[in-house]
Amino acid sequence: MKLQLLTAIAALALSVITASGAAQTTPTAAAPAAAPAPPTSSTIHFVDRWLPNTVSRDRKPTSPVDMIMLHFSSDLIAHPDDPFNVDRVLQVYRDAKVSAHYLIGRDGTVYRLVPESRVAYHAGKGSLPWLPGRKNNLNEYSIGIEMLNVGSARDMAMFMKPEPYQAYATKHPNWIGYTPAQYTALKELIAEIRSRHPLIKFDRYHIIGHEEWSPTRRSDPGETFDYTKIGLPKTR
Ligand SMILES: [Zn+2]
Repeated sequence: MKLQLLTAIAALALSVITASGAAQTTPTAAAPAAAPAPPTSSTIHFVDRWLPNTVSRDRKPTSPVDMIMLHFSSDLIAHPDDPFNVDRVLQVYRDAKVSAHYLIGRDGTVYRLVPESRVAYHAGKGSLPWLPGRKNNLNEYSIGIEMLNVGSARDMAMFMKPEPYQAYATKHPNWIGYTPAQYTALKELIAEIRSRHPLIKFDRYHIIGHEEWSPTRRSDPGETFDYTKIGLPKTR
């Protein structure tokens, strides 16, 4: 189980739940006291699935929130025929003690997992050339957004061998890459987050992918994510 846990951490939710550690359906938790007020101006379909405070912590009042980091998750390894099961993905987060503020489902539903006032555990170790002072410490300053997705062959190479990936890609081509509903929801969600955190400029210095923070450890949101579909350039 230790190896499985480490793998789950590496993927930030590429589930490796086995039959002995079957995921459990968890009822919707009550919103923590620090939950943000419900949004009023977007068409986003929010569903509250607050994670326990054991997978997040208080944000220092002096820490500016000025970045958004994008990720993907799936339950592909354990359940290749049902990789986007939200209950199981959230159980992987709990088991691995990782988290993000939001998770966007394939249909564009935005699951609220951690209040923005708290630090979620999504970035891990890494660094950015233009922000050397943030080395290994980006969670404190960022909002993490996960999206249910299976990446390209290159993206998935750190999690599975090429042969099973190709078999999967042949069987479920529509499960690889982000859906139009996810792009629509993500664009609205980013706008909404920025309304609360205006230091998050709408550019590729402030909105980045996990793979740009940890290029040797991470491959998300990966080759199948198109920044131009949310109005951003592909690179800085
Ligand atoms: Zn990630």
